[in-house]
Amino acid sequence: LINESLAGALPAVREFISRPKQLFIGGRWVDAVSGKTFETHDPATGQVLTTVAHGETADIDKAVTAARKAFEGEWRLWTPAQRQRLLFRASETIRARADEFAQLESLDNGKSAAVALAVDVAWTAEIFAYYAGWATKIEGRTITPSVPWIPGSQWHAYTLREPIGVCGQIIPWNFPLVMAAFKIPAALACGNTIVLKPAEQTPLTALLLAEVLAEAGLPDGVLNVVTGFGDAGAAIAAHDDVDKVGFTGSTEVGKLILNAAGGNLKKVSLELGGKSPQIVYADADMDVAVPGTASGFLFNHGQTCTSGTRLLVEDRIFDEFTQGVAEVAKSSKIGPGMDPATQVGPLVSQVQQNRVTGYIEQGLADGARALAGGQRHAGTGYYVEPTVLVDVQNTFSVYREEIFGPVVVATPFNAEEGPRTAANDTMFGLAASIWTRDISKAHLTAREIQAGNVWINCHNAFDSALPFGGYKQSGWGRELGEGAIDLYTQTKTVNVAL
Ligand code: NAD
Repeated sequence: LINESLAGALPAVREFISRPKQLFIGGRWVDAVSGKTFETHDPATGQVLTTVAHGETADIDKAVTAARKAFEGEWRLWTPAQRQRLLFRASETIRARADEFAQLESLDNGKSAAVALAVDVAWTAEIFAYYAGWATKIEGRTITPSVPWIPGSQWHAYTLREPIGVCGQIIPWNFPLVMAAFKIPAALACGNTIVLKPAEQTPLTALLLAEVLAEAGLPDGVLNVVTGFGDAGAAIAAHDDVDKVGFTGSTEVGKLILNAAGGNLKKVSLELGGKSPQIVYADADMDVAVPGTASGFLFNHGQTCTSGTRLLVEDRIFDEFTQGVAEVAKSSKIGPGMDPATQVGPLVSQVQQNRVTGYIEQGLADGARALAGGQRHAGTGYYVEPTVLVDVQNTFSVYREEIFGPVVVATPFNAEEGPRTAANDTMFGLAASIWTRDISKAHLTAREIQAGNVWINCHNAFDSALPFGGYKQSGWGRELGEGAIDLYTQTKTVNVAL
């Protein structure tokens, strides 16, 4: 075994990791046109995990050609019920192979395998089942036109909801499997074909998913997976034969995608970054709010786009509350994802570890004080201590920028002024949570927050049926729920002179 983390892995996982990982194009596993490969690393040890085909522009071209051919082929004639059955079969297989998916995700990303099993994989299976349900419920409308300038005329008009065509999907490394599940099943339920580019740090579960979908009977070329770097993503965004691009990642790259997509005016949906507030009123239930807000920024080691990284606490409970959160942070067990006792695993890469610790150092140099953490954690993996920073100004980079690690900044707000100004003092608008026992205050505050998702007395409570997306610079469009059906269909109006 090259890698010590593999010692506790299932034989199927070891076998998957040991064989060459190619691109999935037109229903076949193929090498990159250039023949190049790249290595991925185990975040718990820094050791090489495996090698993967290095897809570039030429491979994206091949994948788009395959996706176009599939879109024009037998897939077009599939009934909604056939698409539904396929997605249900895939959902069941993901459930049946859940341990395999969870361990692979843990080895690739660093997250806890136990959490991946309970959250990432279980939810992925749910999302596939949810959109299986949608496949047979995508409906147009009948509308009665007037056409008043043709007196006495009679009309029959209706709308068709049609697939958009070839969809490019570019996803990040923080929830590799879940991000694929936000995109693939909705697009397939609507009858599209796909070129998916997983993040270079975490390509493995997307490849296993391609295997599962092929086994479930997906026609060749309907889903293509090209592993590679940002240039492969850029090739998708700029490709003239891609009809839509769905992107999840940083706001910075989201803007590049938008520019590139202008060439052929492909449809664009974007799920981008965040700097989400967690607002704690003095009347909150402390037994719920202290651990709840701690997990709001620690979940997935803070590598969550909705992470509650700005803790806004009513001034009269500020010290007591932040001490409580700091205690939770300090007592969180740090360790490798494959250890069932681990609560906070390594970050995904050394680059990310350096980025996060760089932010912490800058925050401390600016004058912030660490109630917990404040540095990288000893050991060979990419660990960072859960960190709670106070004495923070809204001009500090730790307050303004997305850190994407287990770091929260806490600032007090005054009951008379309320939290609104502070909560909205950001270019992002992805999520927020409100902690209080006063039901009116909770709902009134929810209306004041500029964010696409607001949670009350909880944080990161997602569901397949609930629309998800951002206000402001956190994105365009809504995934999950019916929102994704809108993203992956276009409306055709048919008007008949009777
Ligand atoms: P990233 O933007 O660097 O990369 C995301 C993906 O885009 C990767 O697959 C990458 O290879 C690709 N990419 C890089 N440059 C590209 C280019 N020029 N053109 C096309 N594709 C390109 O982001 P990341 O570091 O992988 O992920 C972290 C970011 O993702 C955070 O900002 C986080 O908030 C965001 N995110 C958002 C959501 C959401 O739903 N809103 C979910 C998860 C992560």
